[in-house]
This record gives sequence, structure tokens and C-alpha cells, in this order.
Amino acid sequence: MHIVCSDLEGVFTPEVWINVAERTGIEELKLTTRDIPDYDVLMKKRLNILDEKGLKLKDIIDVIETMAPLDGAREFLDWLRTRVQVLILSDTYSEFAAPLMGKLGWPTLFCHDLTLDDTGAIADYNLRIRDMKKNTVRAMKQLNYETIAMGDSYNDITMLKEADQGILFRPPDNVIEEFPEFPVTHTYEELRATLEGILDIGY
Ligand SMILES: [Mg+2]
Repeated sequence: MHIVCSDLEGVFTPEVWINVAERTGIEELKLTTRDIPDYDVLMKKRLNILDEKGLKLKDIIDVIETMAPLDGAREFLDWLRTRVQVLILSDTYSEFAAPLMGKLGWPTLFCHDLTLDDTGAIADYNLRIRDMKKNTVRAMKQLNYETIAMGDSYNDITMLKEADQGILFRPPDNVIEEFPEFPVTHTYEELRATLEGILDIGY
């Protein structure tokens, strides 16, 4: 029996921090783990920027509420969820994800969460577990699932390697070159065809 473990941003939704940066005009929020590889350093910097600019969780959620899933994401996910169980594994925070998850029909999401202070500002972030994506895939294997992992970037690679089958979706060129072992898909049609091949569900 298969289970699909999928990344969220870049697969079903746009990148949240990049959109928040664009829509608030705060360029420094565009920094990602490609610029600052240490996630803790990056998150502390982001929280400092929000604090300096006086932005509270509500301001960020207001921006996220204007975002939509990627074109075709909802239809693809609706199709996939009728064929196989799907877990969305993301290094985002449940507070940020909620508006987009509603637009995706509330699929199951495993992610992290935030601590607010009593003014509604983000005081801290709480990682549920280190290397959550890979550890979730490993746990599913222990539950006797055949695991399929899909993601778009570096922070998905340990999960893709852990899974019985990894698939890249719209990855940057350097990821394709560095990890040629994974099939590469660019559209939901290609992703669907690849999954149908693995799941043997050509219907
Ligand atoms: Mg991603």
C-alpha cells in the first residue's frame, strides 16, 4: 500500500515568504535557505525584520489570504486524494498555511507552529521535530507503507532519498544536475503520469 508525502510550497502553492516580501515591499524577507543555509539563523533574521517593521501575525496572514494555490493544484490534489492517501509535509507554520490549505480543500498537513506574544507579534517558532520531512517518511515506512515523496528543492532531498520513490516537481536546474537519480516533472499532467506509473492506476 502506497502513501504520498509531498512538499507544499513550490508544489501546490507559491513560496510564502517571497510573496510576503513582494507584497509588503520588505526585500530582506526574500532571503531563503539558499542564501542562509542555517535555518535557525534565517528564521531569527526573519523574525527580527518583522519586529523592526512592527509586523504582527495578522499582517502576514492578511498577505497570505491574498495568495492562491498554483494553477491546477487543487484539481490535481483532489484527483490524487481519491487514489492514495496524501500527507503534505512542510517546513511552514500552521498559522501561515491555514488560508492556503482551505483553498486546497484541507488536505492533511504536518508542519511547525509559532508562539505569539500578547500583542499578536511572532515571538518564536517551534519546530515539531528536526528533519521532519525525512522523519515522517521513515515513520510511514515503519507503518508498512510504500512511500512516494515529491518536492521541488534542496530541503526536500533528504525526504526524497528516504522514500521508496522520490519525484522532483519544477526543481531549479542545479537540483536536477546534482540529483539525477530522481525523475523530474514540470506539469501536473507529467506528475500524474509518473504517479500513475508507480501506483499502477491508469484510470
Ligand atoms: Mg518547496
